[in-house]
Amino acid sequence: MGIKVLKFGGSSVADGIQLRKMKSIIEADVDRRYIVASAPGKRFEIDNKVTDLLYLCKTHMEQNLPYDQVFQVIRDRFNAAAINLEIDADLEIHFEEILTNMKKGCSKDYLASRGEYLSAVLVAAYLKVDFVDAAGMILFDDKGRLLFEETDNAIASKLSGHKMAVIPGFYGTEVDSGEIRTFSRGGSDITGALIAKAMNAQVYENWTDVSGFLMADPRIIKNPKPIDKISYKELRELSYMGASVLHEDAIYPCRLANIPINIKNTNHPDDPGTTITDKEEPDTKIVTGIAGSKDFTVIAIYKNMLSHEKGFVRRILMILEDFDISIEHLPTGIDTVSVVLSNRSIDGRLDEIIDEFRAQLRPDGVEVFEDIALIATVGAGMNRRTGVSAKLFTALAEANVNVRMIDQGSSEMNIIVGVQNTDFNAAIKAIYRAFE
Ligand code: ASP
Repeated sequence: MGIKVLKFGGSSVADGIQLRKMKSIIEADVDRRYIVASAPGKRFEIDNKVTDLLYLCKTHMEQNLPYDQVFQVIRDRFNAAAINLEIDADLEIHFEEILTNMKKGCSKDYLASRGEYLSAVLVAAYLKVDFVDAAGMILFDDKGRLLFEETDNAIASKLSGHKMAVIPGFYGTEVDSGEIRTFSRGGSDITGALIAKAMNAQVYENWTDVSGFLMADPRIIKNPKPIDKISYKELRELSYMGASVLHEDAIYPCRLANIPINIKNTNHPDDPGTTITDKEEPDTKIVTGIAGSKDFTVIAIYKNMLSHEKGFVRRILMILEDFDISIEHLPTGIDTVSVVLSNRSIDGRLDEIIDEFRAQLRPDGVEVFEDIALIATVGAGMNRRTGVSAKLFTALAEANVNVRMIDQGSSEMNIIVGVQNTDFNAAIKAIYRAFE
């Protein structure tokens, strides 16, 4: 017997139908003891997530516009689920308290957090299990950074007295001010991981609406193979490149304590899903997954005898730091250094950045390649195996995809190629076909 920590995502707590499925999943296993709830998500394609509605209320507050109707939509959603499941929870007290705080001009984080708060109150009443607030348990400093050790201790001491508990995800308290702070979007995954770590769980089950990770994006590849096992390291690489099922910051706490994360589907609970552990399986497959993102810019800087010049890269990085930009990649040649930046971070300041490069670095030339997509082919099985890149580049050449940039770390777990945005889908298809 061990402890299982479960997190249910927005779609898994979206309405009465989903909450029923959640209940039977929890009741099927006595080890499932700590439940983290997200705010209700979309019930259908054009529906709204409760968190988005709460942010909308805050925008209305800031613009001095009425917010009652938007808040009523949120209220109706919770009440409908409570009626549907015949839950005896006095939600009215909570709605009124939130409205009072809104009138007093509450913070954006406080308001956004109320989706998880109400959801956990409802789920706890439905399961007839203790509600334990995340406030005072998940702790942040005054810059909104998680206080890991303090949080770890607070969780262990607060939850150890509860055999079972429901905890709201996504938020905690800023220690000095006592104000509510949230993680970034999708942050309930992090709450679940922190609880799994602090309670020394045997597994962290992350229940969502897909049966784990797929080898590639199903919008590009028809029926891609599911990934049954993946290592934390491989997943970090894939998440960084845009494979988003789990918040990337949810990996660290579990990795630290070596707790497996199992991504499961609330709608198909018998599917095995994806298990994430520290184990790499280089013998069974070469490529674990392929992920990518569009809209990067490569700035190539040329200077004769650059390789003999000291501090050149440092100066590039300092210029970018002044623009508050972090680089994605830094491929170098003998007389060239290229920086790969996301268009989002450039934020319309490309000319200014180039002017600064010219003024401070005195290069012989600067060339810009816009609309670049990056694709990461990830797999622990690439390590020390010959012919992997040959296969990848042959596949791309046969698909007529021109490779604009190549980057491979010496960990040999990841080959990143840069292609034109317009070649993105063709490149992913070609790589998938070559390695599936
Ligand atoms: N409700 C929050 C969001 O929509 C957090 C979460 O669901 O994990 O981002």
